[in-house]
Amino acid sequence: MTVNASLLSTRLPSVDRLLGTIPAQVLVEQHGRQLVTDAVRAVLAQYRKVQGANGTATQEVLLNECSKWVKAKVTPSLRPVFNLTGTVLHTNLGRAIYAEAAIAAATGAMRGAVNLEYDIESADRGERDSHVEELLLRLTGAEAALVVNNNAAAVYLALNTLAAGREVLVSRGELVEIGGSFRVPDIMTSSGAKLREVGTTNRTHPHDYSSEIGPATAAMMKVHASNYEIRGFTCSVTEEEMSRIAHEHSLPLINDLGCGMLLGLEAWGLPHERTPREAIDAGADVVTFSGDKLMGGPQCGIVVGKAELIARMRRNPMKRVLRLDKVRLAALEATLRLYIHPDCLSQSLPTLRLLTRPASDIEAQAYRLLNPMRNALSGRADITVMACASQVGSGALPVETLPSFAIALSKVSDGISADALARRLRALPIPVIGRIRSDVLLLDLRCLVEETIFLSQLADLATA
Ligand SMILES: *Cc1c(COP(=O)(O)O)cnc(C)c1O
Repeated sequence: MTVNASLLSTRLPSVDRLLGTIPAQVLVEQHGRQLVTDAVRAVLAQYRKVQGANGTATQEVLLNECSKWVKAKVTPSLRPVFNLTGTVLHTNLGRAIYAEAAIAAATGAMRGAVNLEYDIESADRGERDSHVEELLLRLTGAEAALVVNNNAAAVYLALNTLAAGREVLVSRGELVEIGGSFRVPDIMTSSGAKLREVGTTNRTHPHDYSSEIGPATAAMMKVHASNYEIRGFTCSVTEEEMSRIAHEHSLPLINDLGCGMLLGLEAWGLPHERTPREAIDAGADVVTFSGDKLMGGPQCGIVVGKAELIARMRRNPMKRVLRLDKVRLAALEATLRLYIHPDCLSQSLPTLRLLTRPASDIEAQAYRLLNPMRNALSGRADITVMACASQVGSGALPVETLPSFAIALSKVSDGISADALARRLRALPIPVIGRIRSDVLLLDLRCLVEETIFLSQLADLATA
């Protein structure tokens, strides 16, 4: 009688013994000796911890555990997911997805040398922001522009340059926290500027600003109301009035737009979002906005405004700390170029394409996916098509929603709870992220682009 020794439960083998087996050697070839040795040590330690010094396990079981350990370690941490949350610009899911032109430009810049700070004609040193400045001036009507890491950095650089050690007047109604990560007062404090709050949360009048202006005042600031809207008995000072008051006292007006869509969204049937051009026209001296919100580009912060103020910001050593690298600059330039031809924008810019996707198109997709979803989860959940509302996200158009359609999954008796269904969908090779509303898991299909890949994963759901 022959016995396969590896199937016998024996005392735990030594690290060397396990490493010497053929399956372990295959793992070593694929992933290197160090990682596999770590895996063997970790797995053996785990067995000893649970079973004590005389623990037993078959070699096969141990090697299987080692293989799983190694797989977990080599799986990328940052990876693609399906954003079916219904929030198009989801900060936690990476906000805007790049336009194809931006992807091509970015990968081109990654692969080789570029004229990042090099003037090809004169062979002199160039200015990295020059690759996007002219485009930004054309699109906003400003005198000058610069770009930094994100909009928080743009606000920081503006305040640090123009108001460090002095006071900035901001309406109490605009002291908002954006997504837990951007607090205007915190950015102000770290920039060295002193925040001077004027007015009340719901009402601010022109004299609230003018009466607070004194020798310590360095600037007035307007912060665009992201992710909330105060309604009812409200009163705020228009940007034109603010700029009149600021300029009467020779102070700059800084307008933090947050989203700052470059063109009027109403052209695509969407609600209007304030544009940088409008802010400039209304008299702002410095306007800041994000590149990866409605603008649909790479993460960056854009500052446009008066040439003299932008030049001072450029000379601030913090500009060097906050500058963009060649990859994002390439993606930003390519994204801005798409705006030169607005007729094509709703196709060429994914953010706009997703925001303007007709509900009927999303509904048709939902019905295409309904039966495959039902088959994958047969009997374990109730699955229907449901009308729902998508959001723009990232603080843009906080109270507006877009009509959309979702696959709705809910529990059947002795089926799976919405939470458990959500967990299963997140466990797929490309995790599917939905949202739960009163015990129903909604998969809003507005942002489902890769339908074939989504469908191909459903087999995994059936076996999960
Ligand atoms: C989003 C936002 C910011 C922060 O921008 P980031 O690009 O996330 O750094 C600042 N101000 C306003 C008004 C915003 O909406």
